[in-house]
Amino acid sequence: MAKPTSDRRWAFDTLAIHAGQAPDPQSGAVMPPIVLASTFAHERLGAHRGFEYGRTGNPTRNTLEACLAALEGGSEALAFGSGCAAITALLQTLRPGDHVVACDDVYGGTFRLLDKVFGPLGVVTSWVDMTDLDNVRAALRDDTALVWIETPTNPMLRIIDIAAVAKISHAAGALVGVDNTFATPALQRPLKLGADVVAHSMTKYLNGHSDVIGGALITSDEPLAERLRFIQNAAGAVLSPFDSFLVLRGLKTLPLRMERHCASAASLAAWLEGRPEVERVFYPGLPSNPQRALAARQMSAFGGMISAVIRGGLPAVEAFLGSVELFTLAESLGGVESLIEHPATMTHGSVPRAQREAVGVVDGLVRISVGLEREADLRADLVRALEATALA
Ligand SMILES: *Cc1c(COP(=O)(O)O)cnc(C)c1O
Repeated sequence: MAKPTSDRRWAFDTLAIHAGQAPDPQSGAVMPPIVLASTFAHERLGAHRGFEYGRTGNPTRNTLEACLAALEGGSEALAFGSGCAAITALLQTLRPGDHVVACDDVYGGTFRLLDKVFGPLGVVTSWVDMTDLDNVRAALRDDTALVWIETPTNPMLRIIDIAAVAKISHAAGALVGVDNTFATPALQRPLKLGADVVAHSMTKYLNGHSDVIGGALITSDEPLAERLRFIQNAAGAVLSPFDSFLVLRGLKTLPLRMERHCASAASLAAWLEGRPEVERVFYPGLPSNPQRALAARQMSAFGGMISAVIRGGLPAVEAFLGSVELFTLAESLGGVESLIEHPATMTHGSVPRAQREAVGVVDGLVRISVGLEREADLRADLVRALEATALA
């Protein structure tokens, strides 16, 4: 009996479990084997079974790539050793003199990559607030090769209209890439909205258990896929077989995990908004959020991330972060466990103060990754920490 693999008839939850994963033909193993071999036997000169050398192709990694392609609705996916490696591979398709338009409220590592690595190689980046489409129109030039969107943005959780930016950018002849790490394909499918390529840090929700560093690119643009496949092999920043297996395992529960992340985050965000110690809450699903309608149009739920400004500046934030017990003070997000971090000094420490404050990353801002613990326990932990800010 044929197993559902990447068949588009199947629902997202079904694909998360089955896409690309027929039982192993040799043993019947229901879960994909971890193939660790670095090299593969040729049957005779010029004849092999599709695998030659582990950097070029690996059965476990290929299985993950097939699953990722199905989940994002692309024809091809490529797995890399980190989210930054995936974005690097995409930027390596550019040439000196190429222009990039990127959203200003971008992941700190993406900023660093464009500014400090690709800038000196001749790639020029314009940083714009893409929540205003006129800024995108004004920034596009004849030599703009790539428009880079992150939505929801990190850490301000602003929403960028993917379909609108794609339309404007395509009219100007630029490719459109979306970093879909925060939303995941469970909530948002950028390729369907008109993007050309999707990037992920699989380190976050896709793996979901905070035990892998990995990244991916997904596209349906065949020439781009071919170029990226060439770069993946030539530059060699591939994901290991073992990590590929772990992400495959994590993906099986992605739809379930996202449901719970979103439900708890929505409830905590609404509750935080009513607390006197909190100046402002950023969550796309809040009725008070002016971008709620746009978020609802392109996302099926509002995500598991919340940002909030604590009253009292740095001393209050220090007291707050020093008082949480269940939330771990750590960078990263998207795992089963709840994390909390301070963007100004942690994830966005490499962004110049003036630039980060301009987008809202002030000293009082904290970013919360709502995990899968019982929501009442998370709330109790936050109550204790918020009460501690009054004493600061
Ligand atoms: C973490 C992250 C990255 C970088 O991914 P790594 O796996 O840490 O290299 C890129 N984009 C976003 C939105 C992220 O959160």
